[in-house]
Amino acid sequence: MIDLINKAKTEHSLNKDELIELLSCQDGEQIFKAADEVRQKYVGAEVHLRALIEFSNICRCNCAYCGLRCKNRDIERYRMSAEQIVETALKAADFGYKTIVLQSGEDVFFTADYLAEIIREIKKNDVAVTLSIGERSFEEYKILKDAGADRFLLRIETTDRKLYEKYHPGADFENRIRCLEDLKQLGFETGTGCLVGLPGQTIESLADDILFFKELDADMVGIGPLIVHPHTPLNGQQNGSLDLALRVMALTRLLMPDINIPATTAMETLNPAGRILALQSGANVVMPNLTDDDARAKYEIYPNKAGVNYTELSEKLRSIGRTISHKKGYRGNTDCPLTLNPSPAGRGKHTNTARYLRKNMTPQELKFWNLVRNSQFENTKFKRQYPIGKYIVDFVAIQKMLVIELDGGGHNTPEQQKYDEERTKYLKSRGFKILRFWNNDIDNNIDGVFETISIALRERD
Ligand code: SF4
Repeated sequence: MIDLINKAKTEHSLNKDELIELLSCQDGEQIFKAADEVRQKYVGAEVHLRALIEFSNICRCNCAYCGLRCKNRDIERYRMSAEQIVETALKAADFGYKTIVLQSGEDVFFTADYLAEIIREIKKNDVAVTLSIGERSFEEYKILKDAGADRFLLRIETTDRKLYEKYHPGADFENRIRCLEDLKQLGFETGTGCLVGLPGQTIESLADDILFFKELDADMVGIGPLIVHPHTPLNGQQNGSLDLALRVMALTRLLMPDINIPATTAMETLNPAGRILALQSGANVVMPNLTDDDARAKYEIYPNKAGVNYTELSEKLRSIGRTISHKKGYRGNTDCPLTLNPSPAGRGKHTNTARYLRKNMTPQELKFWNLVRNSQFENTKFKRQYPIGKYIVDFVAIQKMLVIELDGGGHNTPEQQKYDEERTKYLKSRGFKILRFWNNDIDNNIDGVFETISIALRERD
């Protein structure tokens, strides 16, 4: 077990069997400790506070575990006005919050255009805006991105397709994935996550969930233990286990060292020390709820949601050697989003560039791509011209954290060499291994190229 933890700590890569072993072992303490060390190394001691505004509890969906499901008639519904939302956001900004999270059920009253107006108003202040409003079309997401939204949370909840369909009647698993891919493509910092403790969920499927987060290259991952709501079909079932939820979270931190991970409210609701335990096991974000008391009580996804007392929280953080961040806290604890062009007008150019590069591959890139596409080389999934933070890499096997760069003669210049060095340093800091080959190698020694890649892949197993 210790060997596996050390491997995860240094290589940030584990396969499914290894994840299952660590999710099932007797003692999780070593995993929590390792995740805490990796959190400290990659994102530091700061804890980012995100001000949560739950602006509507009206939802068209019928998720079997959620108190806001449309078929729950024992709930008083509410919808805040645009003015109330903006006013609450401005209060939060005045208080010093650097991120505003706008969260709701899937409420179609709030069209993308209407939300875009609200976002533009909020963005007049120096804050990041995160949205958590469910599934929308690519065009709607684009409107929201163009209005200045920075991040989007959309938990997959479970990657077990059968379980997903069982607990999300009428929902389409493929559409969920499409949404997440659209969000990434549009340049949102994209958050996902899962529920731990759904009846019928297996350790194997939780291992798949963690691998899915990595495959997606999610920027944020939120893990919540299931808390049963009495007015749902899950009434009478057991709550999820905090220990298992913490393990899923800690292993996610080990595999994705620089992402943002919240200490979720569900963890604190299950155990009064849950938030601090999470912060000591890989988490670096807390989301205090700024919704007014009356509305907050009605936003009952699960019962008895724990609150955050700011003074108490800051004291507790101090006692464990942590500080409250005054940054917007983008991935990697940076204060600006990791895009090629961070100005609002330029957002999305990064993904446009990647798309352009995909369409205009060099003959060597095309040759390489034709030999690795569709997981045909050693059953490994490669992506091409893929944005990682502020750079676009030629090819990457995300599961293995392996980047392949193909270089032409232009990489001989001092300027390009300096740029390549910085890029390599950045990618290494995010846990990637980088292999560089000359175009000449692709033309004349393709077997040697694949032998080198094969060795690197085995090392990352
Ligand atoms: S989990 Fe979200 S989408 Fe599902 S019913 Fe609850 S609020 Fe609606």
